[in-house]
Amino acid sequence: MRAEEIRVKHKIELPKLILAGEDVISSVGEELKRMGVRSVLIITSKTPHSLFKDKLASSLSSEGIKFKFLVDVFKTHKETVENFSSHEFLKEADAIVGLGGGKVIDVSKLIAEQKSKNFISIPTVPSHDGIASPLVSLPAEDKWYSRFSKTPLAVFADTEILSKAPQVYISSGFGDVIGKLTAVKDWRLAHLLTGEYYGEYAAQQAKGCADGILKKSEEIGAKSKEGVRALVEALISCGIVISIAGSSRPCSGSEHLFAHALDYVANFPSTHGLEVGVGTIMMSYLHDMDWMEIKENLERAKAATTAKEIGVNEEQLVKALSLAAKIRPERYTILGEKGLTIEAAANLAKVTKVIKS
Ligand SMILES: [Zn+2]
Repeated sequence: MRAEEIRVKHKIELPKLILAGEDVISSVGEELKRMGVRSVLIITSKTPHSLFKDKLASSLSSEGIKFKFLVDVFKTHKETVENFSSHEFLKEADAIVGLGGGKVIDVSKLIAEQKSKNFISIPTVPSHDGIASPLVSLPAEDKWYSRFSKTPLAVFADTEILSKAPQVYISSGFGDVIGKLTAVKDWRLAHLLTGEYYGEYAAQQAKGCADGILKKSEEIGAKSKEGVRALVEALISCGIVISIAGSSRPCSGSEHLFAHALDYVANFPSTHGLEVGVGTIMMSYLHDMDWMEIKENLERAKAATTAKEIGVNEEQLVKALSLAAKIRPERYTILGEKGLTIEAAANLAKVTKVIKS
């Protein structure tokens, strides 16, 4: 979306319902019925299906809502959307439900968008802020990008389910939220240097989420219920902030460009949030922020802080860092228009101890 468009016409679409807390999966049927949903197509993958299908099915059946599960029937996003386009049940489904992790949520969102259906988000891992945002992440033509798709009609964040997610996903969610610290700095910088639209309220909200979660790093590293609950609330808030801003700007800056570049260079070596966390350490150094505090909190949250921990060698890391600014040239950040030279990238990674030599 161009900055001019935002200033002239600013549209905000928000979820109608966000239900977060213990055992909210049991309320899905009741709430959907209240919203007039009568039949749903549930897209999921093997693990969430085996763990949560009974509870979800019984909640839907008890309210007379028709449903069909589609399990692990996709490989790539494109294939999935193409395969589902002609699915019989799509005709009668009022809504597409995504029950699972990032890919399931993204694919469900895309299908809902393309088929003009409502989208219902039931995340089973708190790994990134896509659980409540209108954005989808798509690998396209060898380059990763994200774009606006469909705002969820409802988000059901069951903290009992989410707190049982493997630690790596919880730590990833932490990394994705911490990334907002540098994202909002990049946004303001772009506003000052290029005149790009800047939403003070959205920026403050995104920063507030990151500041709040930074204090919970210990609890998140220990997977405590309180920590996971705070994380889930922060992830949902970030999704809402994206809707309010009408852009991913408050939640995605140079740290995200680095993560996307890394996925491009090393073919998705780690989870999105862990990569963003490492990017945030380096970008906060460039922004002259307290990068050590960010690094220490990532360590407490059991998130990655080094190249090794995100599954890349030092050369790949430096290459990604030097390529980051070119991933989305229209997104101005602290990396500037040309980006970092290989030497500058290597120095930055070294001084922040992301690489050793
Ligand atoms: Zn992210």
